[in-house]
Amino acid sequence: MKYIDMHCDTVMLAYFFDPEHHDMYDQPKTMIDFKRMQKGDALAQCFAVFLPPEGAFEMMHIDPISDEDYIALARSVILENVAKHDDIIRMAYTAEDIEKNMADGRMSAVLTMEDGRAVQGKLENIKRFYDMGFRACSLTWNAHNCFGAPNSLDPEIMNEGLTDFGKEGIRYMQELGMLVDVSHLSDGGFWDVAEICTKPFVATHSNARAVGPHQRNLTDDQIRALAKAGGVMGLNFYPMFLNEDMNKDTADAAIIAKHARHIVDVGGIDVCGIGTDFDGFEGKNEIMSSDQMPRLADALKDVGFTEAEIEKIFYRNVMRVFRDAVK
Ligand SMILES: [Zn+2]
Repeated sequence: MKYIDMHCDTVMLAYFFDPEHHDMYDQPKTMIDFKRMQKGDALAQCFAVFLPPEGAFEMMHIDPISDEDYIALARSVILENVAKHDDIIRMAYTAEDIEKNMADGRMSAVLTMEDGRAVQGKLENIKRFYDMGFRACSLTWNAHNCFGAPNSLDPEIMNEGLTDFGKEGIRYMQELGMLVDVSHLSDGGFWDVAEICTKPFVATHSNARAVGPHQRNLTDDQIRALAKAGGVMGLNFYPMFLNEDMNKDTADAAIIAKHARHIVDVGGIDVCGIGTDFDGFEGKNEIMSSDQMPRLADALKDVGFTEAEIEKIFYRNVMRVFRDAVK
């Protein structure tokens, strides 16, 4: 079955593992590559340009570079790889592009950004990133930035809302047609987004906190608010965000399906999508790559979803949000 994955961190690893060639067609060191995406029947893959946290470059023995340079570089890694493999994959900036690529027998690659820190409190930077092709931005990663506060075990930080700039910034993102992504954001920030957004917003890679207690996941109230806004959340395959015991570093398709069942029972069938976090998680999941996605379809069947419902979870809900909020 076709699927759209709202989040992976593959670009950074493709670059870190092989700064010279960084080929994304057949790259056994990364969890996903174009070859396995094709095998798994991917319709579209969102490739996040994740801004490496402090120390990441040093850890990989690569000279650190500025956010601006890194964004330009990571973007070119995606564009170059997609151009090189034009026979199977093309860039997409709208729902229409995804449909056109599909009609032409191609998968789609979508550029997204993880961590809005590079926006630096300036609307013109949001416009610049939009013009560069970015169609979604996670407002924060796990630290404060110009948009607001991250998810946190400290209740004070967790309750912090968006900054004044953050409020202005998300209005502008929606006006432009760039998805506002609340994954990693504080609860206070989430509620500001829910109040301010006039178009659907997304949680590209977040699970249900009632099933997996990690504070990165969404509460039932948040799932309902997201559903009411017409948005979608992506099932994340990171064992730490799936298991009841957050220290357990293995997970299977059944626990992902358990989250899906809960999310749909709470928010309805239209709010659930996929955001694997491939190449961004530690530990071992039964599904470690794109070509194993059919296992998720089977697991969803096992918890009572019909074929039509699984299609919604796999790609139709995300397509709807792209149609409604991306241009
Ligand atoms: Zn993330």
